[in-house]
Amino acid sequence: MRVLKFGGSSVSQPERILMVAEILRDYHSQGIEFAVVFSAFGGITDSLIHMSRLAERGDENYFTHFEAFSQRHFHAAQALLHGPFLEKALPELENNHEVLKNLLYGIFLVREVSPRTMDYVLSFGERNAAYIIAHVLQQIGLPAQYLDARKIIKTDKNFGNAKVDLEMTYENIQDHFEQFSDIQIVTGFIASAKGGLTTTLGRGGSDYTAALLGAGLNAEYIEIWTDVDGVLTADPRKVKKAFTIPTLTYAEAMEMSHFGAKVIYPPTIQPALDQQIPLIIKNTFNPEFPGTYISEKADLSAQGTPVKGISSIHHVALLTLQGSGLFGVPGIAARLFGALAQAKVNVILITQGSSEHSISFAVEPELAPKAKKAVEEAFDIERIGSLIEPVKVEDNLSVVAVIGERMRYQPGIAGRLFQALGKNGVNVVAIAQGSSELNISVVVNREDEAKALNVLHEAFFLSDTAELHLFIVGVGLIGSTLLQQIQAQKEFLLREQALEIKVIGLANSKRMLFQEKGIPLDRWSHELKASELPMDIEGFIARMKRLNLANTIFVDNTASQEIASHYASILEASISISTPNKIATSSSFDQYKLLKTIAKQRGVLFQYETNVGAGLPVISTLNDLILSGDRIRKIEAVLSGSLSFIFNNFAGRPVQRNRQGSPTAWVYRTRPKRRFTWSGRKAKTDHFSPRNGNSLRSRRGNRSAGASRTMR
Ligand code: ADP
Ligand code: ASP
Ligand code: MG
Repeated sequence: MRVLKFGGSSVSQPERILMVAEILRDYHSQGIEFAVVFSAFGGITDSLIHMSRLAERGDENYFTHFEAFSQRHFHAAQALLHGPFLEKALPELENNHEVLKNLLYGIFLVREVSPRTMDYVLSFGERNAAYIIAHVLQQIGLPAQYLDARKIIKTDKNFGNAKVDLEMTYENIQDHFEQFSDIQIVTGFIASAKGGLTTTLGRGGSDYTAALLGAGLNAEYIEIWTDVDGVLTADPRKVKKAFTIPTLTYAEAMEMSHFGAKVIYPPTIQPALDQQIPLIIKNTFNPEFPGTYISEKADLSAQGTPVKGISSIHHVALLTLQGSGLFGVPGIAARLFGALAQAKVNVILITQGSSEHSISFAVEPELAPKAKKAVEEAFDIERIGSLIEPVKVEDNLSVVAVIGERMRYQPGIAGRLFQALGKNGVNVVAIAQGSSELNISVVVNREDEAKALNVLHEAFFLSDTAELHLFIVGVGLIGSTLLQQIQAQKEFLLREQALEIKVIGLANSKRMLFQEKGIPLDRWSHELKASELPMDIEGFIARMKRLNLANTIFVDNTASQEIASHYASILEASISISTPNKIATSSSFDQYKLLKTIAKQRGVLFQYETNVGAGLPVISTLNDLILSGDRIRKIEAVLSGSLSFIFNNFAGRPVQRNRQGSPTAWVYRTRPKRRFTWSGRKAKTDHFSPRNGNSLRSRRGNRSAGASRTMR
């Protein structure tokens, strides 16, 4: 026996329901025994909540939403069913809609919707869906039977998030399945309290319904069918490069789901773990794909990466209890968490420094005021004696967690995590790691959540490519050549360096253009011309900062003083700068030093360059020489382009040739005895002369010979 569950997105449209029916027909024809759990059609639970809230506020618009609800189900039934199957299904739907209509009117009249009433309202979503689909399956010849889960799943009266009485539920499940041998088409999410009142198992709870059935029936597998290819390395809505994790342990899956991977509702894992039933996460729209297999077995193979996945909770509040009264006093933690438990505040994460001066803990933001009150009351006496400060509440934070059983076997994971975050300017507000080393969690500002997820994904999944996000100002000769070069080298850099370059922002003096997916480089000029955004450098920089992408580089291809004046603020935002604009590097030395210091502090690059002759870069060459121990004693150069041209054309001509006819020496006409040679070894020179004269030569590659002569 298997238990399958199809989520709201798998049944949101009649065409999708037909795909589900095909999958089930296939299972049936293979002789596989199964029961199926269905969620409400996608979006229905949200709309039921919405119409109840409108009715509660006395807003008559609730009725429009109710009508849309009933139309959606009638239309689905009419699109999918015909003849006797439609005739049989319609009266039940009509009856459901009549009851729901009266219920909403009741809410509208009394202006109140209690959690108990809300659960009853929500039950219509799952009941309608499973009822219609049971008839669709009968119509294609499967022996399907509708089962309202309220008959078998028994809970307490904690409406909205009821706790299941496992013993009674398992007994009911076994009794029911012994009695009925048809394929049971079960409503997800809903249950009932003793006495019969409707309860629900928490948002996303249909997964849990499937796990309860699986455990009650001691199923071979529990299959959760959804709209993605299994559990991915990160939320695909936030990390575009997320990919399927083929296997997970129950513990890893539990961590992923607790830390925000919506694909599995957290309580689902426990019943499967208790009975050691594998959970398989599959994609309804890609049924051939194996998906994710969750079991007890850890992946200890060589291919297994230490970090399996990265998850996040988008919004948490962090509360901190601190003061001298905490130091060395036993029982503080017990009092703190006891008070929170009494106030029914669930704690997401705890961290305490070894100085014992403070304890921080994260909770859902809505619970923060209640948590603060409960803790302050519990430490009333210490507060009066000023031994403890008022509880500090920081809102607008996210928790980002890296998860994997094998992290425990490898040093350096935390190092890599903090380095990746630091380099991208993500400030870490708090850190927590359990001693199981299964999860390292960091609390970050909410606006940094997506960036943190992406940089960590890049840091931990080596198969991945690194993405550079470029914001380019100036598309004159230098700028347009750069864009051309990027386009020409794109493929090569991706293949050879695993580097993906995306130009996200582009501006000339008149217009600016932004495309988060990357501006197509074969049409940049056309797209920039068509852009309706007038150029405004402050707006350009603000937008670049707001996008807050990992590995961002600002490229200034102008000679503008105004743009250079923004460099400090750009570097402060942990954005690297690359520029041929000489203003910032050749004006005040203090300003130059400031920029270098900020870049160093923020761990980003401030890259500028100039060249001699036929394009030999000077600054990076000098930097390399200095790093390898050379000392610059003197630099001589002709800094005027015109003079340089004149000297190059008038001063030298080949006078000696080797046997192959190539020039081996040059004569300077006005000083005929002096020679230029390629050799640096014997050079007694002040010019760009490395101790080991080869380095200039070797850097030259096949550039033109005129670029780097050493004089002696
Ligand atoms: P269903 O309607 O099938 O219950 P859900 O919307 O509850 O589906 O869960 C599936 C969604 O979970 C995916 O569409 C995806 O956007 C989101 N999700 C978040 N984190 C992950 C993750 N790590 N792996 C896969 N999906 C994830
Ligand atoms: N329909 C419910 C919800 O949207 C349960 C589920 O989809 O699992 O939360
Ligand atoms: Mg779900």
